[in-house]
Amino acid sequence: MKEQNTSRIYEIPYDILLRILTNLSATDVVRFLSLSRTLHSQICDDRIWKHRSATSGVSDPMFLGHRTYYTVYTQLLYVYAPLIGVWAGDHPYTGGIIEFRWESGTGSNTGCIIGDVWDLHTSDSEEADGLPQQPQFAAAMKIGFAGDMSDEHRKALADNPHPDQVVALCCKPEPPSCRAHTVDLNIMGATRQSAFMSLPRDGVYRHPDFPSEEVDMWRDDTRPFPRFRVQEQRAVNQISSSRTYLRLLPIMITAPTSYLKPRALTMTCALSRCEGLKPPTRWGMSAMPYAPRYYPLRVMITKGVDPTSEDWTPTSLTGLWLASYRPHGTECIMAHWDERKQAMLGIKITGDQNVPRGTISWEVDMASQTPYEPDERRDILARLPTDDSEKDERRYQLFRGKLLASNTGHILSDRWTISIVMVVVAPDRFHILSLATGRGERLLSFVRYPGRSLHI
Ligand SMILES: [Zn+2]
Repeated sequence: MKEQNTSRIYEIPYDILLRILTNLSATDVVRFLSLSRTLHSQICDDRIWKHRSATSGVSDPMFLGHRTYYTVYTQLLYVYAPLIGVWAGDHPYTGGIIEFRWESGTGSNTGCIIGDVWDLHTSDSEEADGLPQQPQFAAAMKIGFAGDMSDEHRKALADNPHPDQVVALCCKPEPPSCRAHTVDLNIMGATRQSAFMSLPRDGVYRHPDFPSEEVDMWRDDTRPFPRFRVQEQRAVNQISSSRTYLRLLPIMITAPTSYLKPRALTMTCALSRCEGLKPPTRWGMSAMPYAPRYYPLRVMITKGVDPTSEDWTPTSLTGLWLASYRPHGTECIMAHWDERKQAMLGIKITGDQNVPRGTISWEVDMASQTPYEPDERRDILARLPTDDSEKDERRYQLFRGKLLASNTGHILSDRWTISIVMVVVAPDRFHILSLATGRGERLLSFVRYPGRSLHI
């Protein structure tokens, strides 16, 4: 468009123009202001970008450091703000959780985004009472302006980027001898690739998909993705070529299936020996040529209700929980209310070599409950941890259900279910007791994940 065609825009009072601009998408604002030189000189008007920054979650001027809202919004917030939130990875068996949050700026340095890996306890560090612990957050990644990174980190950046260029750095190089290095963030397109476990002599078994056709309630499909170009995941069939793998150890391989998984986020360290972004390897090896795929995790923080109160309903239990799945340690479970079945489902967001992430660990029927006989009830409550068995237990909520169990590897022929009872003892705590005889008694204790603020 020529200059004279846009000249009428100047007849609009600037305040009104500003209001129009704040309602356009960022791309449209840039396009619009590029129509003429005079308009372009207004592109840096911080009032336009301040409003946008606030809607991206940054309203504290401290965050800017010495930079303008224009630079901070267009370089960092517009592209990366959709990372803020919790993401669940599809690592075979274990899964893995990473949480992105804002970190404040200082007088001179602009704030940044930190990616915290959930560090869940292994059984050794667990308390003797068997109660699970809340996750520790280990900062694994820092996304911010190159000019604000430490000298050591800046040296790791190969092509000497402009100080106003945004970079992603691994901030937990492990082993410590690793040099400072970058992290590659990508969005991978939808894929039909699934994981398979190849066992020496035994053959090849499909590993549960994450998400899967049956279990994807944990995935938040309303969350936006960072604005990177989507890369296509190439199709690989390692089953047909599995003879090339040494079949001496259990090994994860990949091949296409009919189930289409949606787009996902991937993160890889530039140093392949860095363990910073990986959850602990627990079983088997992987020959899959891909980085784990992360999906937005639906985080509902439900306020707990006293189970002895009349306001308590099964849905008071929905949300994220931490549970001690001994001997594996603490795992993250989503309690999901299935309206059709009138049942509570415990979906594994992280898992282990027996019952992996993405499976339904337990299902508790909450519609048709026959009350327990007093003797039976007393017997069940006597098996709770001391703290809970000594309290006023007359009005604890008890529900019958079933728990999925499996031998190592989670092969279809090696799975069975155990009758359980769920005992809800407090707003943010419940237990699951197995009633099986022969295979040994089990007690799983759950505490609610209270969530934390990811904003500043
Ligand atoms: Zn690294």
